Amino acid sequence: MRPFRVYDSMTRQVRRFAPIAPPRVGLYVCGLTPYAPAHIGHGRTFVVFDVVVRALRRWGYRVFYVQNVTNLDDKLIARAAAEEDDPLELAQRHFAGYLRSMDRLGVRSVNYYPFATDYVPEILAQVRELIDRKVAYVARDGSVYFEVAKFPRFGALSGQNVSALQPGARVEVDERKRSPEDFVIWKAATPGEPSWESPWGPGRPGWHIEDTAMTGRLLGARYDLHGAGLDLIFPHHEAEIAISESATGEVPMVNYWMHSGFVTMTGEKMSKSIGNVASLEESIDEYGAGVLRFYYLNAHYRSPVDFEPGKSLAEAREAYRRLAGPSDRIADLVERDGPERSGDPLPPELAAAADELVDRLDATLAEDFNTREAIALLFGWTRRVGEAGVALDHLNGEGLEAIAAPYDWGREVLGLFERAPATRSGAWATVVPLLLEARARARTRGDYAEADRIRDQLTAAGVRLEDRADGTRWEFADTG
Ligand SMILES: [Zn+2]
Repeated sequence: MRPFRVYDSMTRQVRRFAPIAPPRVGLYVCGLTPYAPAHIGHGRTFVVFDVVVRALRRWGYRVFYVQNVTNLDDKLIARAAAEEDDPLELAQRHFAGYLRSMDRLGVRSVNYYPFATDYVPEILAQVRELIDRKVAYVARDGSVYFEVAKFPRFGALSGQNVSALQPGARVEVDERKRSPEDFVIWKAATPGEPSWESPWGPGRPGWHIEDTAMTGRLLGARYDLHGAGLDLIFPHHEAEIAISESATGEVPMVNYWMHSGFVTMTGEKMSKSIGNVASLEESIDEYGAGVLRFYYLNAHYRSPVDFEPGKSLAEAREAYRRLAGPSDRIADLVERDGPERSGDPLPPELAAAADELVDRLDATLAEDFNTREAIALLFGWTRRVGEAGVALDHLNGEGLEAIAAPYDWGREVLGLFERAPATRSGAWATVVPLLLEARARARTRGDYAEADRIRDQLTAAGVRLEDRADGTRWEFADTG
């Protein structure tokens, strides 16, 4: 197992990682509340933790990666009511779309996606435990609240001062609560909502307790690593700590906290509730998974990333194309001639440099997952390969394999350099419009045979054309 260090949000320090029971690592990442399609911001969080898991597995750790699905909450219920749909089915549908996007993005590292509503027995057991330990109380309507005053460490992760949260203009006074900062762990049912029987009447799980019920069941009262987007630190993760540590007496609930930075949309946090979101699925359609992963990973995972529609991903596409040039060329040559192709050997100093670089890439990631620096190193390699005057086309199979080693590392750990299925990006995005112009000119001058020939050639190459009043649109026939 390669040692590595990670910034821990709780201690605010980069710490050497020590698993509880090596080589096993229990990882929990807060997942989606699937009440709408996933956006670009979600993609970042889940690609970041995908890279963490890819790296750990490469380094010899056995990671069990759990990511929950909040398939029932207030937003889902409200959205389902507006769409005259069942909230659980709505969640199932959006979750299926999310899984498709994750698969296309190459995020396949999650071992298990538990659904909140499958953990009601575990949730009820924790609620019971918290009431017995007198840190939770039953309100008049049958809801159960966690009493924050009974957990003095509340606020330690976020550095928030809870006593500053007094009832007033900003905090709505809720008669059912003893104190405004108390949070609900079991919600009394409203007629028409999905609900479960409980000793306190019919109800459904509060949000924070679903996580702790799942981690208690799947990872134990203490586990290694908890990840999520930065926006969940307060109050969600404070609440998780308070619930779990109060219910089990095991401290700390988790040894390391990792939080990935925001994606802002021209300066403002991207959020479904604000409405300034870019669809993840559409972005993959337009640019392809490699460009998106490059865009996310070409920033430190803790830094905020600003997304400008029509600009950020277009720039990422240009940069990624430059970076991946030799990798693509090598893949083409090996695909054409096989891995045993004959040719010149690679100069030994370049082969040695490739090996050294792979070591450096691992070392770079082992220092708080610095993917930005790793990508800078890969750019350095692309430059060096270009400057060395090595004609890739003349190298033998062994030489190509050696020169590809850093890109192979990038494929395994960062998920870059995959041979992507055809998308509207790449050379196609340049070439097809040129052919469409040529076809339009042919039609203008009445040369319909030429126009049809261009259309037939494009069709044979898998490009479907649609003539409209405002011009010709195109797409790949196999992308629906
Ligand atoms: Zn969570």
